[in-house]
Amino acid sequence: MTKPILIVGGGPAGLAAAHSLAAIGQKSILVEKEDILGGAPILSGYAKLVPTGEWAKDAIGGMVERVKNNKLITVKTGTKVQSFTGEPGNFKAELSDGKPVEAASAILCTGFTHFDSVNKPEWGFGTYDDVVTTTQVEQMISSGQGVRCPSDGRTPKRVAILLCVGSRDRQIGREWCSKICCTVSANLAMEIREELPDCHVYIYYMDIRTYGLYETGYYWRSQEEFKVKYIKARIAEVTSDGEKVIVKGEDTLVKRPITIPFDMVVHAIGMDPNVDNLLLSELFNVDLEPHGFIGKGNTYGDLGATSRPGVYVAGSATGPETIDDSIAQAHGAAMSAYAFANDSSIVAAE
Ligand SMILES: Cc1cc2nc3c(=O)[nH]c(=O)nc-3n(C[C@H](O)[C@H](O)[C@H](O)COP(=O)(O)OP(=O)(O)OC[C@H]3O[C@@H](n4cnc5c(N)ncnc54)[C@H](O)[C@@H]3O)c2cc1C
Ligand code: SF4
Repeated sequence: MTKPILIVGGGPAGLAAAHSLAAIGQKSILVEKEDILGGAPILSGYAKLVPTGEWAKDAIGGMVERVKNNKLITVKTGTKVQSFTGEPGNFKAELSDGKPVEAASAILCTGFTHFDSVNKPEWGFGTYDDVVTTTQVEQMISSGQGVRCPSDGRTPKRVAILLCVGSRDRQIGREWCSKICCTVSANLAMEIREELPDCHVYIYYMDIRTYGLYETGYYWRSQEEFKVKYIKARIAEVTSDGEKVIVKGEDTLVKRPITIPFDMVVHAIGMDPNVDNLLLSELFNVDLEPHGFIGKGNTYGDLGATSRPGVYVAGSATGPETIDDSIAQAHGAAMSAYAFANDSSIVAAE
């Protein structure tokens, strides 16, 4: 057996990479900076996942248990990689707990950072208590607390979900589409309607990107079965009259100004590059792509390759990704990293 493969990041991608390597008898070391595994779905307390409808704590929790119980996987939580040197097939990493480890290859599964809505101040987050984010509403549902207005705990009668907050917005340097937030928002709208049948839910959008098969299960189902209303609009600002939060903008279908009061406004926040990416790029000597995500070196021939031989990448570290795509990419990168580690020309060169 070769040296272990180093996996950085213990979210869905890192967990999948470790599991698939173990399945073919390959040891790995999984380094996660937080004290628990599971990545964004666990750390941010997601509720029911798209597309399976399973609770995040069960679906991703199951992946965590599978990794923790596997003897071929060494898990190091609350730990970071501090240096990464050596040659392909013979890398050396220094961990923040003081331990040196050797690795044949490495996979970066370091994920993304949620957009911080304070960077979109005109839409009211950070100013009005009842302007919240999708992750906050996910937490209200997953904690069992239920959907309530943070200002006074009342049950909302009208909720607006604003799409593309921190995505597709050149003014704040975020040109990309975060890919999953239309579908996540339609899902959340249905969850709110299920919990609070008297609550009216409106989704404000530029375009709807419930791509592929999600169009049926989320876009149409949310309207036809759950009576969620969609408003195509350009939003100017979110203000307050002291009681309600007010969304002002233009209905771009009828080209008229619209001003509607709500009990709660939800920002469908996007996926930013991981705030650690500049550091990771320097540490692992890998290139970032122009938006700041970790760049892919080879799209077809060597799945998950970065600009540095022997260092691979998977999941939302590479750009906005769904959980199932992150997992699929991680399996691909794991096989590439395994093949690289077992390449006879590299092993012979040691
Ligand atoms: C509001 C919201 C809801 C979503 N809901 C869904 C959904 O229902 N279904 C779906 O398919 N997708 C959903 N997504 C997308 C989903 O969050 C991602 O697809 C998924 O988290 C990607 O997994 P990952 O492992 O690539 O990254 P992450 O989940 O971000 O995990 C990365 C891990 O790496 C760790 N890490 C980061 N930097 C370092 C470092 N320097 N050293 C060590 N460890 C590090 C992090 O702590 C984290 O544990 C949602 C996204 C948002 C914003
Ligand atoms: S998925 Fe939808 S909400 Fe998210 S950035 Fe793309 S268009 Fe906007």
